[in-house]
Amino acid sequence: METNIEISQELKTTLEKWKEKLDPFDEKIESLEKDIAEQKKEKLETIRNFTINCLRCGKINKFSELAFVQVYDYVAPSGCMDGDYNKDCKDELCHLKCFCGAGYYIYNMAEKKAMLYAIGQFPKELVFNSVERKRRY
Ligand SMILES: [Zn+2]
Repeated sequence: METNIEISQELKTTLEKWKEKLDPFDEKIESLEKDIAEQKKEKLETIRNFTINCLRCGKINKFSELAFVQVYDYVAPSGCMDGDYNKDCKDELCHLKCFCGAGYYIYNMAEKKAMLYAIGQFPKELVFNSVERKRRY
């Protein structure tokens, strides 16, 4: 006849056996997650170091030195239940701004496609020096 002590001993053994099987996965997952985090950090840093020349002051700006100007539309209230709100415009309708004040409309940039590709990878707050908001109309 089993006593309570023997039952709990058996449960502990099962737990240990199962943990033994699963622990290597957890160790591997933890290690891979660290690698992923490291790769993302390096990727972000690479994007932050991409440059564009300011046509006004001539400075070669890293993305991390520019301001991103998020353009938004004001959406008026509609119906009796919905309030007004601001809707962010697509990246191509936004601007990059040099410290000298010159703004660059992404839509008109020669490197527009590359720019949209690069800046779409991470939140703008992480890539640029600052994010300003500007109403379109
Ligand atoms: Zn400039």
